[in-house]
Amino acid sequence: MERVYNFSAGPSALPVEVLEKAAAEMLNYGGTGMSVMEMSHRSAAFSEILADAKALYKELMGVPDNYDILFLQGGGSTQFAMIPLNLMTKTGKADFVITGNWAKKAFQEAGRYGDAQAVASSADKTFSYIPKLDAATFRKDADYFYICVNNTIYGTRFRPDNLPETGDVPLIADMSSNILSEVYDVSKFGLIFAGAQKNMGPAGVVAVIIRKDLVGHAMDMTPTMLNYQTHVDADSCYNTPPCYGIYICKLVYDWVKAQGGVAAMEAFNKEKSAKLYDFLDNSAMFKGTVVPEDRSLMNVPFVTGNEELDAKFVKEAKAAGLENLKGHRTVGGMRASIYNAMPMAGVDALINFMKKFETENK
Ligand code: PLP
Repeated sequence: MERVYNFSAGPSALPVEVLEKAAAEMLNYGGTGMSVMEMSHRSAAFSEILADAKALYKELMGVPDNYDILFLQGGGSTQFAMIPLNLMTKTGKADFVITGNWAKKAFQEAGRYGDAQAVASSADKTFSYIPKLDAATFRKDADYFYICVNNTIYGTRFRPDNLPETGDVPLIADMSSNILSEVYDVSKFGLIFAGAQKNMGPAGVVAVIIRKDLVGHAMDMTPTMLNYQTHVDADSCYNTPPCYGIYICKLVYDWVKAQGGVAAMEAFNKEKSAKLYDFLDNSAMFKGTVVPEDRSLMNVPFVTGNEELDAKFVKEAKAAGLENLKGHRTVGGMRASIYNAMPMAGVDALINFMKKFETENK
């Protein structure tokens, strides 16, 4: 069966090479006579997969030695609770930048455990920009400062050269929708988490990079499974980890490495997204919704300004093999998610389809 161009925001397209490799190894992984799905998480074969995944992720992200890497369950949303339970424990204060639904959810969850404060927001313009932040923006005695680096729904991002300078206050980042897409300096962060289901693998795995000095201070009431210390001590094997998902992440890391690493992905993603933004900036019918300097490389929202025309576009695009272009249910319009696995041919096909649609619907 022919594959479509899948513009879903997540779960999203994976590299074909990864899926082919997983298919080839499905029944008999590396001569073990079984699938990774059927393997004990304590077996030698799986221990090697986990160690390789960790080493590759460390290498690709340039993770310094004073950080731990964990592969956990519960998705990005469980991190919204785990972070305050583990880190909001000295002064009990944490500051948040509200750049969309995901940052807001993290903020609301943290408010259950301490003094969470929204110090900046772009809600006034439907989250179409990243608020300007300076040293006066946050509390110097906060336990951490939280940002969602790439805003999946609204298509904005904190560029690597536009991260808040938080001094001694650890910067905590949700990179679920732009992990491995662009080079960020890990040493600037206290913790980075990413749900796998966009750029890294299937849903069910969340990768956490945490500075070692931030581990071990959880609130007494923290459930064992939500304490980072538990998972650091057991090297992500306290209980049965999401074994098959971790294996697919490992294959994706191999793939990213073969493409030339994160720097090469960044160059490719910049080229891909620039092509689409350039088309939008010059189109009479379609318009991007985000200010140019804060545009995401991964999620590109756009509108025609006419809801009926938007719906017609999404329907006809689907019939043409361009899937999942409908915008998030809270914002409408369209959104093209062009993660690492989206080839240039997919973006070209989308642009050509938009040109055709524009001519036919003048
Ligand atoms: N953070 C961001 C930026 C997301 O895009 C998402 C989901 O799309 C989440 C968090 C929530 O992740 P999960 O569904 O794994 O809980």
